[in-house]
Amino acid sequence: MLGAMGVTLWVPADRHEAAASVPGAVDAPPVESRETSAPCAHAPPTPIANSADLATLGWDALRERVASCRACRLCESRTQTVFGVGHQRAHCMIIGEAPGENEDLQGEPFVGAAGQLLDRMLPAIGLTRGAAEPGRQVYIANTLKCRPPRNRNPEPDELARCSVYLHRQIELVQPRLLLAMGRFAVQTLLDSHEPIGRLRGRVHRWRNLPVVVTYHPAYLLRNPADKARAWADLCLVAAQLST
Ligand code: URA
Repeated sequence: MLGAMGVTLWVPADRHEAAASVPGAVDAPPVESRETSAPCAHAPPTPIANSADLATLGWDALRERVASCRACRLCESRTQTVFGVGHQRAHCMIIGEAPGENEDLQGEPFVGAAGQLLDRMLPAIGLTRGAAEPGRQVYIANTLKCRPPRNRNPEPDELARCSVYLHRQIELVQPRLLLAMGRFAVQTLLDSHEPIGRLRGRVHRWRNLPVVVTYHPAYLLRNPADKARAWADLCLVAAQLST
């Protein structure tokens, strides 16, 4: 199933290198800070959301908070925020990195070339993006809700400020398993700068929830030799979901 993938790339080469780490990541501000952000030049500063702010928000209120977020500079260049899509009680929740050009235009995660590959991978383990029961339909969200300009790497402060929205989404979905795709999703969930190659192949935990780590589909488009490993990771997901 991970065979013919003749799709063009959407990201610059540096975005999905599995082995690289984020320079300066240790300088990220505290995620739960109430400080005022260093936001968009032309927008009034907005407080950085923390988990307590978001803890009581349901889906609609959370979506509105994300849509109006101006906590970092990415709000200046976005067309729209990209919240998430899928079954709101999905057993499997997929965490990507950040919207690209297509996602920014359409407002939905993983609709570009990487998303098309993801759509071909999911059915191999009985999962789908399309409407289905929660055991089959996934929920997909990104670590960043706004597209970084020219698909550059997310900055540590952007990841830190945006991750609270993802955390609340996970709390609302209450999935049985998280599938983290790519190093920025992994860094956000596991607080680890280890390369994907060292983290994959075993089950990690985010607040006691199983987390499986795998390569980002955009990376797989550039490195098809690693599709066999991604296939093994999907098999681990299937095994975990069946327990
Ligand atoms: N890559 C991601 O990580 N997320 C998207 O939504 C699109 C591409």
